[in-house]
Amino acid sequence: MDVTLYMEALLKKRAEILSAGGIKPLQASMENNTRQGDMADQASGNNEVHIQLKLKQTDAKILQAIEEALWRIEKGTYGVCRDCGEAIASARLNAIPWTRVCITCKEKQNT
Ligand SMILES: [Zn+2]
Repeated sequence: MDVTLYMEALLKKRAEILSAGGIKPLQASMENNTRQGDMADQASGNNEVHIQLKLKQTDAKILQAIEEALWRIEKGTYGVCRDCGEAIASARLNAIPWTRVCITCKEKQNT
């Protein structure tokens, strides 16, 4: 299996997330939010912060998954489902190169 393309995709995505702000701005904005204890400010600002927080958490999760995927490439276990040990379909890897599980196991998780 040629993992070079996946590795490039992973590195590119990682660079995208990091350049988009990464994890550090999240911590900064959280500190700001707790220090400004004004009720009116919180009422108007909370929703926006919440959405941002959620986005950042998603980014952080993807980042983590990318790191793991890169690690698996190094170990030579990339493209193997974490749950069932079967090879993950290349179409799925093309779409989500940092995925840990095959489509069958993913669907099991969702149900
Ligand atoms: Zn599986």
